[in-house]
Amino acid sequence: MMRTDLERAARSARGFMPHDEGLCLYQTVLEITVQGPIVEVGSYCGKSAIYMGAAAAETGSVVFTIDHHRGSEEMQEGWEHHDGEVVNRDTGRIDSLPALRRNLEETGLEGSVVPIVGDSRLVASHWETPISMVFIDGGHGPIPAHADYDDWASKITPGGFLAIHDVFPDPADGGRPPYEIFLRAVNEGDFEEHAAVGSLRVLRSSP
Ligand code: SAH
Ligand code: MG
Repeated sequence: MMRTDLERAARSARGFMPHDEGLCLYQTVLEITVQGPIVEVGSYCGKSAIYMGAAAAETGSVVFTIDHHRGSEEMQEGWEHHDGEVVNRDTGRIDSLPALRRNLEETGLEGSVVPIVGDSRLVASHWETPISMVFIDGGHGPIPAHADYDDWASKITPGGFLAIHDVFPDPADGGRPPYEIFLRAVNEGDFEEHAAVGSLRVLRSSP
């Protein structure tokens, strides 16, 4: 069971993670059986990171959460997922890092969730440590989504987990790229479906 204060904090945090899907992320982290840290691509304000961090705090693991904090295309002004409260007043640009830091501070998860501020591709190009679980929830366009799969899935230790958000088999429900990379993981990668809640898919790599 997730600690109730953390559950409350996760529920009320700004972001894009339905509670039942967040609990699935929490549960998946508890089920990790291999060594290595957890990587999240797409921190935003830390909503999903609180779910994963709560479990990492229990197991003694750590979540490195990556984001340039400038927002995805669909979060820019005038787009569907824009939130004016995540804009820096001086620069006029999106900056979700202050909200992330605040959420980690308030939940006491700074020892379990470590933000990495930068472009996912750039970070991946310097990342060599084998990973026990990757959660892909960054840019949802075709180029960033496939890049995140290309860059990060291969770094997962055999027996580790790959979670992908916003997977919509029916095009009427949402964009294609997360679903496409889910199919790639099943068809070309060594992954099998482990759990599915809402648009969250969790795959396990062959041990
Ligand atoms: N997991 C979050 C939602 C993430 S939204 C939650 O639970 O609420 C997607 C995030 O991906 C945005 O904050 C955006 O800035 C980030 N992002 C998009 N493309 C990126 C890239 N190439 N590198 C790093 N972060 C990226
Ligand atoms: Mg998402």
